[in-house]
Amino acid sequence: MLAGAAAAAAYHSATRLTATQQSGSTQDLGARSEVEALRQKVERQALLIQTMLMILLEKKVLHEEEFKEWIDYVDQLDGTRDGKLKEDRSPQVCANCGRNSPRTAPKCLYCGQAFETDFLYYRPGA
Ligand SMILES: [Zn+2]
Repeated sequence: MLAGAAAAAAYHSATRLTATQQSGSTQDLGARSEVEALRQKVERQALLIQTMLMILLEKKVLHEEEFKEWIDYVDQLDGTRDGKLKEDRSPQVCANCGRNSPRTAPKCLYCGQAFETDFLYYRPGA
């Protein structure tokens, strides 16, 4: 058991070393994995947006022109009309232990409590 764990640790450090040598530095590796995480987040959001827009247009809930007006309205909710929504960078407080974790963390860094996924940054009337 212990030998197995040691072998696994040796394997992990060997693969990490190889990856580090290939990319140049561990800083490069960190930046690459952050870029990959952001790419996946953007692609996920693109899927959600495309799905919602197709449903709205297909079900004739609103027309494309109305959708553009809504984009303009939602754009100003963060205080700046700049064609994007400012990301909320405030920490999220764990309901279980009360400590702060980054907004992007799926669960509490201290106790592991899963955070609720919130699709909406801004709620009507909030
Ligand atoms: Zn917690």
